[in-house]
Amino acid sequence: MSTARIARVALPLPKPRLFDYLVEAHEGLAVGLCVRVPFGPGEKTGVIVALDPADAPPRDKLRTVREVLLELPPLPAQWLAMAEFAARYYQHPLGEVIATALPPGLRRAVRLPREDDPLLAATAAGRAALAAASKLTRALAAVSLVCSAGSMRRAMLLEQLDNARPGAASEGIRQARNKGWLEVLAPGSNIVAVDSFQANAEQAAAIERIGAALGRFESFLLHGITGSGKTEVYLQLIARCLLQGRAALMLVPEIGLTPQLLERVAGRFPGARLVALHSGLADGARSRGFVQALRGEVDIVLGTRLSVFVPLPNLGLIVVDEEHDASFKQQEGLRYSARDLAVWRARQESVPVVLGSATPALESWLAADSGRYTRLSLSQRAVAEAPPSVRLIDTRRLKLDQGLSPQMVDALRLRLERGEQSLVFLNRRGYAPVIACPSCNWISACPHCSANMVFHQVDAILRCHHCGAEAPVPRTCPDCGSHDVMAFGRGTQRLEERLGEYFPAARILRVDRDAVKTPAQWAFVREQIDTGQVDILVGTQMLAKGHDFPRLTLVCIVGADASLYSSDYRAPERLFQQLMQVSGRAGRAELPGEVLIQTAFVDHPLFHKLTEHDFPGFAALQLAERRQAGFPPYSHHAVLRAEASDLAQALDFLKHARELALSLQGAVRLFDPVPMRLVRRARLERAQLVVEADSRPALQAMLSEWMRQLYEVRLARDLRWHLDVDPGDL
Ligand code: ADP
Ligand code: ZN
Ligand code: ZN
Repeated sequence: MSTARIARVALPLPKPRLFDYLVEAHEGLAVGLCVRVPFGPGEKTGVIVALDPADAPPRDKLRTVREVLLELPPLPAQWLAMAEFAARYYQHPLGEVIATALPPGLRRAVRLPREDDPLLAATAAGRAALAAASKLTRALAAVSLVCSAGSMRRAMLLEQLDNARPGAASEGIRQARNKGWLEVLAPGSNIVAVDSFQANAEQAAAIERIGAALGRFESFLLHGITGSGKTEVYLQLIARCLLQGRAALMLVPEIGLTPQLLERVAGRFPGARLVALHSGLADGARSRGFVQALRGEVDIVLGTRLSVFVPLPNLGLIVVDEEHDASFKQQEGLRYSARDLAVWRARQESVPVVLGSATPALESWLAADSGRYTRLSLSQRAVAEAPPSVRLIDTRRLKLDQGLSPQMVDALRLRLERGEQSLVFLNRRGYAPVIACPSCNWISACPHCSANMVFHQVDAILRCHHCGAEAPVPRTCPDCGSHDVMAFGRGTQRLEERLGEYFPAARILRVDRDAVKTPAQWAFVREQIDTGQVDILVGTQMLAKGHDFPRLTLVCIVGADASLYSSDYRAPERLFQQLMQVSGRAGRAELPGEVLIQTAFVDHPLFHKLTEHDFPGFAALQLAERRQAGFPPYSHHAVLRAEASDLAQALDFLKHARELALSLQGAVRLFDPVPMRLVRRARLERAQLVVEADSRPALQAMLSEWMRQLYEVRLARDLRWHLDVDPGDL
């Protein structure tokens, strides 16, 4: 091994350190390659992050790399730089950051032969066959998907057809081609479709302004109510980006990656190599998209938060739609914010980034106020004349029937008579949040969590929404034997039941995570809604996001008050975002919309701003409160959480951590360790310690020093801890 070099490798281990190995020098050996290395008695896969580092230990102390995986091109330097930044900023071991950022099962996937990905279009015969069909065969399903998008890459079509059974899907495509229903378009067919909307004045101004920034870094905050045409702005910008021969990355919330959006993008860019990525995708498909992107064979990546890590050698534009959405923040492992990383990445790669929302995060709004982001606004709906009218119903002097006021019932009846759709929004699934015994005060507490088990009447079961534990519904009180055990409060199931009693002839559909679990179920629900087979929708925030309901004219909001005076300082911001979003569902095109909100706090400023559709006003109020209280975005937080079977143990660890922190220099404030609000979850007791600083650099400096020490602390056997930088909640 005279020609051996030293490779510094990041391995997926919960330790903030890198490992050095000998590796035979050969052509193509480079930083960014994946390697298999011996580790202890076993073996691990990692990524080379440096070659021949100056501070390597003596060679005779080093083991040798088993295999360099050359099928995969090396991860680009910019990609590694982003991983290193994330590791530094979120105080997470680099090897684990890289393991999070790479799709699982990448090694298997890269062994797939490089295949040509033909662009398919439907023939006249295909369209005729589709029109004449009475039953959708797999071949016809392929034709219909291609038709709806204009044309489609084969790989995309495969994923759309049937994720679970790729064999059957490719057989369907083969049949359609053999029958002459699908044809392969010649390479070089136009990448951008011609038909886009004539942008209105505000859209045109935004497109011009952002378009002029292509080729350099600038952050834009695109503020526009639902339906104001933000997506249209993104699409026209993506078109410009593609015409410059560069790739676009568009991030959407977890629930925002709907077939509708996918079709809209695929339909606009029929010739583009489009990759859609989300966590529900099979490992193989995820890896394939990642590798294609890495090879520079992808024009558009459309995906959820994990897509921020997709390498695009020729990146030209980043879009983050619904940038305020909580799903951009990962809540486990590497607790990163995909929105914040997107902005960092845009700066590093010198491309513009567009953050779009009807209700931007206050962090982003403040950044625009201070000029760090360029604010652009779309103030009108692109097609409907007016935003919905929002009316408050004062519940203080009303007798509610299962949470429904007479006004709401009347409004629902009116829509039924007119043949229009309504949506009743209640952000709590299940039948009732708890069942209890009035005789002895027994309640359906979860044995593993400090929470109650929710009564699910549909499955006749009690279920904990925190740990998933289930229990039978007792007929008599388990403690005193009383027969009077009762369901208290209400969830979507109970609301659905009561609405069914009011309106026996109405077609009522409940949409929540219990009723709709798979993409196929979603597609079915959408189909029913779109084709007018539903009169009243009852649902949770699942219904609030990213879907157009053309026949919907009434939105009823039941019971939003709990969030008004929550102990979480972000609760009002979240509530406003949610209510604004769900309100945006009402009224489209020629049908004006109405929103009814029941509340005991009709004078609350949040509702005033909501009735006036005044997000800027609301943001100003909230920011003033936050500034006064010294909360983010005027300060910066990190929270150290510990969990153990015994609360005292978790608290002891945090007390020790606090002592370590006190001995460090740095302009930070340390709070006291406290039990978390939901102190017990899945049999573990949880506590937390908040660190606050006026500036990010001050916080970062303290954290990196602190973490070095914390990784050295010997832990009690069942104690676990993690750090969350810029936490979503406290
Ligand atoms: P947003 O993303 O802000 O909710 P969309 O881009 O989805 O808004 O636009 C809302 C609706 O208006 C869509 O049906 C879209 O096709 C239509 N639309 C957008 N821009 C225009 C335009 N300039 N002219 C006509 N229709 C438009
Ligand atoms: Zn009892
Ligand atoms: Zn539980």
